[in-house]
Amino acid sequence: FLSINNVQKSFPNQGKTEQVLRDINLNIEKGEFVSLLGPSGCGKSTVLNIIAGLLRPSEGELYLDNQQITKPGNDRGMVFQQAALFPWLSVEENVMFPLKKVMKKKEARETAQKYLQLVQLSAYANHSPHELSGGMQQRVAIARALAMNPRVLLMDEPFGALDEQTRIRLHDELERIWVETKKTIIFVTHSIQEAIKLSDRIIVMGTQPGRILQDIPIDIERPREKHLQQMAHYEE
Ligand code: ATP
Ligand code: MG
Repeated sequence: FLSINNVQKSFPNQGKTEQVLRDINLNIEKGEFVSLLGPSGCGKSTVLNIIAGLLRPSEGELYLDNQQITKPGNDRGMVFQQAALFPWLSVEENVMFPLKKVMKKKEARETAQKYLQLVQLSAYANHSPHELSGGMQQRVAIARALAMNPRVLLMDEPFGALDEQTRIRLHDELERIWVETKKTIIFVTHSIQEAIKLSDRIIVMGTQPGRILQDIPIDIERPREKHLQQMAHYEE
């Protein structure tokens, strides 16, 4: 479904080139919830941005449904740590914003309303983003990304800026959304607990240069805590 083949990435750094990603090979199945887990600076965001088409790999190719990824597209939705909503637009208009480029205004409004319902924020459609809590703003960002009906939802530490309680609530919310929409989700985090709780597969990355160390399926038949032992060497 999504295949990442021999991706390397280097950035120029003080006159030299620094290899940031080495030999990234990954196949992700449709409907999987995959976490990319690793310490700060190992290249998680770089991998996600390459999948999003925001960055180009120095070497290697990526395919989504056999189509090569070379630039950003509506088939990939993205949610960042900051919701990045337009403050001058209402919640509903924020969700409508990308939709209006691909459909008529009436249809965009109906679609936005459908996705606000999915994240349980219909009552806030006409509110301003600043009237919403951080967790609610992040739910609007999720609605905005999903409303475009992407094949893959890319999430870069989406709950990293939220307090513990809100984060736990959003975990449940995301799990429900995943079950309801059957979306393929790639979720970047440096929290092992978050990865084990949410995903059915964890890709563990290491640093210098960024590379894949482990690819661990999470067996739902086993208590999730058991998986912590398997990853005992992992340091946050
Ligand atoms: P974090 O958990 O802190 O978000 P990360 O795993 O997402 O970290 P990246 O942001 O992908 O890590 O960065 C990986 C490495 O690539 C870092 O050493 C960073 O300095 C370097 N890097 C990332 N983007 C660029 C860029 N545009 N130019 C130069 N170096 C970059
Ligand atoms: Mg990052």
